[in-house]
Amino acid sequence: MGNESRNVLKPMDSEQLREYGHRLIDFIADYYKTIESFPVLSQVQPGYLHKLLPDIAPDHPETMDQVLDDVRAKILPGVTHWQSPSFFAYYPANSSVAGFLGEMLSAGLGIMGFSWITSPAATELEMIVLDWLAKLLNLPEQFLSKGNGGGVIQGSSSEAILVVLIAARNKVLRNVRQNALEKLVVYSSDQTHSAFQKTCQIVGIHPENCRVLETDASTNYALRPGLLQEAVSQDLEAGLIPFFLCATVGTTSSAATDPLAELGKIANSNDMWFHVDAAYAESACICPEYRQYIDGVETTDSFSMSAHKWFLTNFDCSLLWVKDQDSLTEALSTNPEYLKNKASQANLVVDFKDWQIPLGRSFRSLKLWMVLRLYGSEALKNYIRNHIKLAKDFEQLVSEDPNFEIVTPRIFSLVCFRLVPAKNDEKKCNNRNRKLLDAVNSSGKLFISHTALSGKIVLRCAIGAPLTEEKHVKEAWKVIQDEASFLLHK
Ligand code: PLP
Repeated sequence: MGNESRNVLKPMDSEQLREYGHRLIDFIADYYKTIESFPVLSQVQPGYLHKLLPDIAPDHPETMDQVLDDVRAKILPGVTHWQSPSFFAYYPANSSVAGFLGEMLSAGLGIMGFSWITSPAATELEMIVLDWLAKLLNLPEQFLSKGNGGGVIQGSSSEAILVVLIAARNKVLRNVRQNALEKLVVYSSDQTHSAFQKTCQIVGIHPENCRVLETDASTNYALRPGLLQEAVSQDLEAGLIPFFLCATVGTTSSAATDPLAELGKIANSNDMWFHVDAAYAESACICPEYRQYIDGVETTDSFSMSAHKWFLTNFDCSLLWVKDQDSLTEALSTNPEYLKNKASQANLVVDFKDWQIPLGRSFRSLKLWMVLRLYGSEALKNYIRNHIKLAKDFEQLVSEDPNFEIVTPRIFSLVCFRLVPAKNDEKKCNNRNRKLLDAVNSSGKLFISHTALSGKIVLRCAIGAPLTEEKHVKEAWKVIQDEASFLLHK
């Protein structure tokens, strides 16, 4: 045998997978067991990894031991531990045993599910699981796959917004003149995620036609229907075409929830597409006591939630439901010869390639299916309720300390708070809160993030990591209080 054949790569060696796979699972299980020993927020300096890794890729195979040693010594120091029980920044990005195993199974099967024919189970399971979740959320029947609606998994909330914005643009331009793009107007609030601005840039909505409606503390930063109505009327008078409203349930800054029913009335009566971004908060709406926050969902054309935030499903898994699947496929479908097949040509099946931007798609429904099956909806509801209770406890602790105040009332598991200003000096107060944020996060003991509301720097404690327990919340508060007292007495 020559050297060449001895060097032939065997990348699908089952026995190697068994051996390495067991070791990697052990590695990850140990990581979870010891996750509290790491600083939650990585403390490395920019460029640290360049100093530790070679400039060129290896010519010859290295061992799994060598790789894992490097993960321990060089990669983990540069990891911010999103699964740490003391991770309270942004919104959570849940991992779980079920979600993780589902992701692994998807990687193992290694399919591309762009057309039904390319893996019928991938398309059909996705439809079934999205219907399951729609029923858990008590969504109107129009969002179920048996009619003209249905759900689809996108990679992110941004992609979900992008595809519906494209569908809405396509629909309105078909109904009016094709060259009316410069007349199309979109509406959102100043609390809407920046993903919406980005999607408008991509879709070619003129920046001067993006109405960013102001919110304030009087509505807890929810969009006021009156303001929307006014803006729409002015635009109509000016000969413009209002065509898209993006509302939010659970804004990123403060978990504000826009009043869907009232906004929906305005959108519907003006023939606008109404999308709701409920990336974080929608998970809570599987609990009957939180379902009220999506009341009015029947007036929407589409809405999305990210199961990878607070629903134990590993990234990426953003769920998008639409009432009218034709509007998506009319805007996004292509039919090249090389993808033609009998099932698609006969219109017997859904091809999810026509509901999204990329062609390729992995078997993402497996992880959501495993989460729903291995945990069951009752345990999932209690999982959510427990985080909300922990947030309520944290809110109570904050409100008992005269140095702090709660900035907006808590609804779900996000607490917005800050050090109170001394002598009404808001500027100094903002500086103090920034300093407190830095001090807390550089302790490595927890990680919180911040936002600005009406010019105030606000600290955010978002509870929702799968390993978080009462003791972690209490410890976090103690660190915040200690750092605050150090700052205030300096
Ligand atoms: N919408 C809301 C309400 C969010 O909180 C976020 C991220 O936190 C996004 C959209 C953007 O999410 P993605 O990264 O999935 O596009």
